[in-house]
Amino acid sequence: MKSTAIVAVPFFVSVVLAQDAPTIQKVVAEVLGTIDPARLDATVRTLAGFGTRHVLSRTDSDTEGTGAARKWLRAQYEALAAVSGGRLSVALQEETVPCARPNMPRQVPIVNVIATLRGTTEPDRVYVVGGHYDSRNSVGEDGKGAAPGAVDDASGTAVALEACRVLATRSFPATLVFVAYDGEEQGCIGSAAHAKALAASGVVVDGMIGCDIVGNTLGMDGARYDKHLRCFSYAPSGNDSHGRSLARAATFAARTHVPEFGVKLIQRGDRYGRGGDHRSFFDQGVPAVRFSEPREDFSRQHQNLVERDGKPYGDVPEFADPAYMANVTRVVVATLCELASAPPPPRVVSAQLRRDRYDTELVFEPPAGCERFEFVWRETTEPDWTHTIDMATAKPRATASRRLLATFPGVCLDDVVVGVRSVGADGSRSRTATPPEPDRFEQRPRAARAAEDKGGQDK
Ligand SMILES: [Zn+2]
Repeated sequence: MKSTAIVAVPFFVSVVLAQDAPTIQKVVAEVLGTIDPARLDATVRTLAGFGTRHVLSRTDSDTEGTGAARKWLRAQYEALAAVSGGRLSVALQEETVPCARPNMPRQVPIVNVIATLRGTTEPDRVYVVGGHYDSRNSVGEDGKGAAPGAVDDASGTAVALEACRVLATRSFPATLVFVAYDGEEQGCIGSAAHAKALAASGVVVDGMIGCDIVGNTLGMDGARYDKHLRCFSYAPSGNDSHGRSLARAATFAARTHVPEFGVKLIQRGDRYGRGGDHRSFFDQGVPAVRFSEPREDFSRQHQNLVERDGKPYGDVPEFADPAYMANVTRVVVATLCELASAPPPPRVVSAQLRRDRYDTELVFEPPAGCERFEFVWRETTEPDWTHTIDMATAKPRATASRRLLATFPGVCLDDVVVGVRSVGADGSRSRTATPPEPDRFEQRPRAARAAEDKGGQDK
């Protein structure tokens, strides 16, 4: 039951904004207006036209194979860099990495194409969006046969490229990174190399969006599924995690800026028993989500180009829907604009339920220079934030060591999840930060704890 002690504030609260800066609504609306379905379609068709983009395919041609594909992608990104006023730079990450897939060489060369739009004031806070440009057919190790990979995953590669095109002439406080990944089909070996390199470089990756299989809207049942995308996120335990926080930032951005299109939260790391490049970032402790179309057509993915019983098989461009890919790009762009414009999320120190009345108190460290926050809560069983509390109601006040204590009046912490997000001068919102899970009893049976306390169990 929802608390009746406070009035639920709608998500789209108007906020007092700085007079001199354009609002985030204005900036995002302008950028979204320039997303071009025809370019997305052209990118998918061009990539599919290279025949195959398998990691073992030829690299000595300008028209065929993975070498031609990445040469073309690099040229596209470099063309964007040339008109970015020096803000966008392009690099290849070339490595030979271990591969555990059957019938594959133990070591495989990968090449990621990486475009970086450097942040103006916080370049070491980074948001990544990527799709994988490599492809495969029915035989995982076949580097010669046709593997057009239009939906899996020229579509996601096209979304990242188009997002870069519309954002490259803008500047944001935080850094945006757009990537065409190699080697996803061989165990996400390209994204693993990138996630590791970012972790080693010392930057803070505050979010990674993997766009994989984001083009097909015709279900195997003949129905059209083009009104939403699925957003998968990992949570090691419980219902909250950095990844879920990023997923809820995507729903917020979509509701705010792309109201005609939905983001369906799936509270699972990926589709059942399967994986993708966002996993590489989750493994590095980075908030990461996967965007995918609502209903996959398995007669397309990882199939040889054949016709059986009058039915065509294979991942050809005719089944990548440009209007749908444009909507996925809009959600990506709106999410990146919000997160890269806003200050970083606060760091929540603790939460407690008062003992004299049913108010929850949240103690958090504000990011440097950020003075505006928004407080949110939901029942533990709700997938997304349902209530917003503004500054005037929460009245955050200073405690020792630069911390702030905010009050959620009438909100009983025992039954709900609470959180806080930073609000920028332009109205942009960070990811929401939540308190740590209450204690180990939530996650480990008593017997396991006892054994652990004796030092007899692993972590
Ligand atoms: Zn894929």
